[in-house]
Amino acid sequence: MIKKLDVPEIFGSNVFNDETMQERLPKGIYKELIKNIENGTELDRHVADVVANAMKDWAIEKGATHYTHWFQPLTGVTAEKHDSFISPTSDNKVIMEFSGKELIKGESDGSSFPSGGLRATFEARGYTAWDCTSPAFIHETPAGATLCIPTVFFSYTGEALDKKTPLLRSMEAINKQAMRIVRLFGDNRAAKVTTCAGAEQEYFIVDKHTYEQRKDLIFAGRTLFGAPAPKGQEMDDHYFGSIKERIASYMADLNEELWKLGVKAKTEHNEVAPAQHELAPIYDETNIATDHNQLVMETMKRVAFRHDLVCLLHEKPFAGVNGSGKHNNWSLTTDTGKNLLDPGKEPHENRRFLLILAAILKAVDEYAPLLRESASNPGNDHRLGANEAPPAIISVFLGEQLEDVVKQLCEKGEATESIKGAAADVGVSTVPSFMMDATDRNRTSPFAFTGNKFEFRMVGSTASIADPNTVLNTIVAETFSQAADILEKADDVEMAAHDLTKQWISEHIRIIFNGNGYSEEWVKEAKRRGLPNIKNMVDALGYLTKPENIALFEKHGVMTCSELKSREEVGYETYSKTINIEARTMIDMAKKQIIPAVIRYTTTVANSVKAVEDVGVSAEVQRIVLSDCTKNLKLMNDALIKLEMAVEKAALITEPKKQAVAYRDEVFTAMAELRAPADALEMIVDAKEWPMPTYADLMFNV
Ligand code: ADP
Ligand code: MG
Repeated sequence: MIKKLDVPEIFGSNVFNDETMQERLPKGIYKELIKNIENGTELDRHVADVVANAMKDWAIEKGATHYTHWFQPLTGVTAEKHDSFISPTSDNKVIMEFSGKELIKGESDGSSFPSGGLRATFEARGYTAWDCTSPAFIHETPAGATLCIPTVFFSYTGEALDKKTPLLRSMEAINKQAMRIVRLFGDNRAAKVTTCAGAEQEYFIVDKHTYEQRKDLIFAGRTLFGAPAPKGQEMDDHYFGSIKERIASYMADLNEELWKLGVKAKTEHNEVAPAQHELAPIYDETNIATDHNQLVMETMKRVAFRHDLVCLLHEKPFAGVNGSGKHNNWSLTTDTGKNLLDPGKEPHENRRFLLILAAILKAVDEYAPLLRESASNPGNDHRLGANEAPPAIISVFLGEQLEDVVKQLCEKGEATESIKGAAADVGVSTVPSFMMDATDRNRTSPFAFTGNKFEFRMVGSTASIADPNTVLNTIVAETFSQAADILEKADDVEMAAHDLTKQWISEHIRIIFNGNGYSEEWVKEAKRRGLPNIKNMVDALGYLTKPENIALFEKHGVMTCSELKSREEVGYETYSKTINIEARTMIDMAKKQIIPAVIRYTTTVANSVKAVEDVGVSAEVQRIVLSDCTKNLKLMNDALIKLEMAVEKAALITEPKKQAVAYRDEVFTAMAELRAPADALEMIVDAKEWPMPTYADLMFNV
């Protein structure tokens, strides 16, 4: 039986969205609230009380007993503290209440959240405040329902302790500067420019019972040992392959949950690696898209459990096959519905578009390290530059059409034509003809123009998209403001814009690269062009507090110097803690699982040698196996001792950056030395003796 789903009916049914608000709020209150949301003004207490009460009634009808201020601390995952709606009455009973005050502001003893020195444990006060631009929603679990109120999280002194506050500030910054550009080109109708994001999410699915036998997956989210399976992704047969029933039923459930939450889950398909999949929603305003992406990740994990599956969001769950990322599609739209990144049919004539393009190229070139940093986490260090994900070097792919326009501008000083898409001709008369895009795609570029949006492809699959969007918005706000400063003084804006476009494009042409970003030649070429190649998270973090970057964030009111310092410090701590957990998990698995199994197996083989030779036959093969085993066992033991010492040493370092460097240079390298002989042993030891499921078991049994 096929379950029939009324998608329009269930879509957004768990969201306190515009429709619900219109239904449930008195007209005057609704209008007042919308005005606040649109203008970013402060909410009147009376309005807040009415909204809170309506929200509570709605939530209780949906089965909720509790509410929570839902926020995104610097851990990168969401946090919630639940309060029930109960309020005592004089006759010792309770009624269900929710006030405007409780809706707007929460106080949380958040001293255990990372703050990077912004808040000491003894100054525990942290506040959450309602972000009314993102609608409240119901979180349903078998245990009950909770009203979730999206909030920002900040300290007693007003410093941001979360990922959402800087994002919202950056959206305001780019709105302000983009509006100056929009006005300069004669648009007096638009009143606001918003950034939009669409986050394509990659993930792996493994069987829960298999997962439970791997301590590395449980503690670190990725395999720390594991010989390659006989088959990997070389046949390209998983990519876009037909979806297996168990996965399809998981995806169906996932879609239903997401639709109820108002997430516009749209596309799903198998990805390149075995057991890898992708989900893409329809894009939304960046703050909503950011909240939704967190919901997507949470829901993916939650729904998987229901199907006896586990969703792995780690950037590199398995060595030797592709890891997972998140493509962040980014664009700028006016409230009148114009996409500022739409080049139109004749891009060479579109002065506003070309200026915006030049400003983006300048921003990406000048602030490439900040973009690189925004996509850094310990997991992504395994991907960036490792021949699958985009390289760690930032460059921009424009595609044939725009590259040609840019070339004309630089070479002739004028762009006079635009390449057009040709009609598709596949040579089969029954296939209807259609116009092809003017531009092919490039899979290897970290920052690619894809028709009417830019796609930032470096982001890690576990990461919040708040950071990359905060950086993108801020750096482009900066180059927009520089352009506006010049053009607002010009007599002939069109001419001045043309000259500035030409100037900026020729100054930043080095950032454009349309070739293969995975090749060795590109690494050399990029070096020749002077483009930074920042190889890991620890190196990237330092850029947050370079004087020019502090000045940038402060100028646009996005982050203060102390907020940036705190983020840098939290980054080092996160890195050290992650590697520490991984190293300790490896030590545990090596000592308690792998080495004992190898010892058992060598004993069996040794007994065989004795038994076989006792009857006067040569046990040559057994002796070879035995010697291979003992050789690798010794290597493992030496590497284990080295790793234990490295961890011990690194753990003692107190300065965060120095500690992170030690984890990267000493601990991380020692981990690789321990893994190599263990993986070699997995290929020698009897499969029945191997103490954990293999790559083949994990990737091929769902
Ligand atoms: P592809 O990356 O294969 O071109 P799509 O065109 O479907 O695939 O887009 C991928 C993602 O980009 C989706 O999440 C989509 O909603 C989003 N997207 C499409 N247009 C825009 C836009 N103007 N701004 C931001 N994101 C967009
Ligand atoms: Mg894409």
